[in-house]
Amino acid sequence: MDPLLTLEQMTMGYRGKPVLSNLTLDIHHGELLAVVGSNGSGKTTFLKTLVGILPPLMGRFSTKPLRPDHPFQVGYVPQRATLNSLLPLTTKEIVEMGTYGTLKPWQNLGQNERRQVEWAMEAVGIQSYAKLQYSALSGGQQQRVLIARALASKPDLMILDEPLASLDQESVKTMVTLLLSLRTEAHLTILWADHFIPTMAAIVHEGLLLEDGTIFRGKLDDLLRLSAHWTLSE
Ligand code: ADP
Repeated sequence: MDPLLTLEQMTMGYRGKPVLSNLTLDIHHGELLAVVGSNGSGKTTFLKTLVGILPPLMGRFSTKPLRPDHPFQVGYVPQRATLNSLLPLTTKEIVEMGTYGTLKPWQNLGQNERRQVEWAMEAVGIQSYAKLQYSALSGGQQQRVLIARALASKPDLMILDEPLASLDQESVKTMVTLLLSLRTEAHLTILWADHFIPTMAAIVHEGLLLEDGTIFRGKLDDLLRLSAHWTLSE
């Protein structure tokens, strides 16, 4: 089967200044890949370029979604702290945002979008607090809402930036179980950026190591041995 995503000689960075150069890489359907590297190695730059928030400096990527009638969609779960929790929005309103990318600016949510929102909220188990203010939720609950928002676009690729950051041990376990079940049930391909914490290493075995302006792909254990600057943290 063709890869879901193929990067061809891509260079990523800001205002003409490369952070990651000349990347050529395939990501296959159903893969769960860790995206690791020390602070400043380019993890966020890489993810934002794939999401389309940041234009590449050079090169291109092509996609082959499983559903030919459905355009390629990326669901992005940013670091929780980047969403202003003071916004006076309910949980459901935040999840609805996930469908905006498929709508024109003046369009309201149609029946399809409403169904997707319901499905996403059910998939992550947050229906019971649909009407609650996002700001009133716990860290673990907010993280679920952000995952539901990403799911609402029915993504082919789900990109998570430090989904376990500042969650307590119990929420970490719940989150990990949730992500693994979504991968199977929603047929997701997942890129998961995080520090190399043992919790992640226990479930994710393949990864991308960002270092010295490039990306190494392989088994996480091997990448660890390869990395010159690695620091283990949790
Ligand atoms: P990581 O997510 O691995 O910590 P980043 O992708 O945030 O790394 O950063 C990679 C490099 O890009 C760093 O040198 C950082 O200073 C630089 N960088 C990040 N954001 C910007 C920006 N908005 N403008 C210019 N340089 C940036």
